[in-house]
Amino acid sequence: MSQPSPAAPAGPDEAVARDLADRAAVLDAADPLAPLRKRFELDDGPDAEVYLDGNSLGALPRAVLPRLTDTVTREWGALRIRSWEESGWWTAPERIGDRIAPLVGAAPGQVVVGDSTSVNVFKALVAAVRLASEDRTEILVDAATFPTDGYIAESAARLTGRTLRAVPAERIGAEAGPRTAVALANHADYRTGRLHDLRGTTAALHAAGALAVWDLCHSAGALPVRLDADGVDLAVGCTYKYLNGGPGAPAYLYVRREHQPRFDSPLPGWNSHADPFGMAPSYTPAEGAPRGRVGTPEILSLLALDAALDVWDGVAVADVRAKSLALTDFFLECVAALVPGGRAEPVTPVEHAERGSQVSLRCPDARAVMRELAVRGVVGDHRPPDLLRFGFTPLYTRFTDAWRAARVLAGILEGTR
Ligand SMILES: *Cc1c(COP(=O)(O)O)cnc(C)c1O
Repeated sequence: MSQPSPAAPAGPDEAVARDLADRAAVLDAADPLAPLRKRFELDDGPDAEVYLDGNSLGALPRAVLPRLTDTVTREWGALRIRSWEESGWWTAPERIGDRIAPLVGAAPGQVVVGDSTSVNVFKALVAAVRLASEDRTEILVDAATFPTDGYIAESAARLTGRTLRAVPAERIGAEAGPRTAVALANHADYRTGRLHDLRGTTAALHAAGALAVWDLCHSAGALPVRLDADGVDLAVGCTYKYLNGGPGAPAYLYVRREHQPRFDSPLPGWNSHADPFGMAPSYTPAEGAPRGRVGTPEILSLLALDAALDVWDGVAVADVRAKSLALTDFFLECVAALVPGGRAEPVTPVEHAERGSQVSLRCPDARAVMRELAVRGVVGDHRPPDLLRFGFTPLYTRFTDAWRAARVLAGILEGTR
């Protein structure tokens, strides 16, 4: 592989690259969200690492460390057990759920935070089957789903005596019928970045008498989600990607208000009891969102997430979406202009309505190319067998980052030709 070339090369391509670099600088200067980058632990210099992996692990918001220091030293260290009440630990799962609610288009009281996405997929899917009538014998699952959703759907089907049928996400609405209890789909495909039709698919499922469970891991925090308005029944999502909650941050569960009274959790832990400290031998579920809780909440991770959500105060998701599309448009343009023909082909849809907040490029040797990108200060990731993934987090990614990523990628691929 050749040496890094961003600084020096000459020739006709260089003029194109310079022109794109100038445009990136102009776009950054005009970006209304640009000041938010300072609220993250990110270097600002021209040689700062280009971080395009916020769709796997969001960058660290600066508000997190002081908050965790206080939680550990004062709330835990000094107040000890009193903090369950005095510091609001006990109600943190619902309280923080209500902070996520506006980001997913949910009115308060329907989102609870806790457990992993995997566990919440299980709760949502089994509970959805329990809401459906007995003669609805099948569960549909997005055929290209993130693996954990598929594994858990298979187990949920076995446990509830239903069959599981995998169909492409865009066909779920058409495939649903009188035997369908529920479908589980990803709003955005984690490999290709394709955004699925949440509203249309949900409406088609309802027309067939089935329920819709959506996984929002790759959409919430990057684009508008309208769970209430679009009639979604249940949804889950993680908080360590576009919500920047930190490694292993707890996930969230949305249960539409009208389903809450009949939401029958397959994991009815004591935290979801109507009177948890009554220590009754028999189970009586709590009302509302707390019914989705299981056991003792992960307080340190929850409160890190709480602090991470501060960056959203006053931020309009519509602006985030506008910047996300502008960033991915610009990156695609840079790739088309700079990367040698055919060496890295976009698989992410060009249509805005079908694009999430990442760009995936098909590239033979993706693993080695991504390793080389990291060596040269550009961090994305790869998914087997041949996809390079670049995540664009509108709160902190710059247009200059998009330009540099394409530039460095072009340098690497020229060298391997
Ligand atoms: C990231 C992601 C997960 C992660 O699940 P965990 O239980 O947090 O490990 C699940 N589903 C989808 C679609 C994801 O993108």
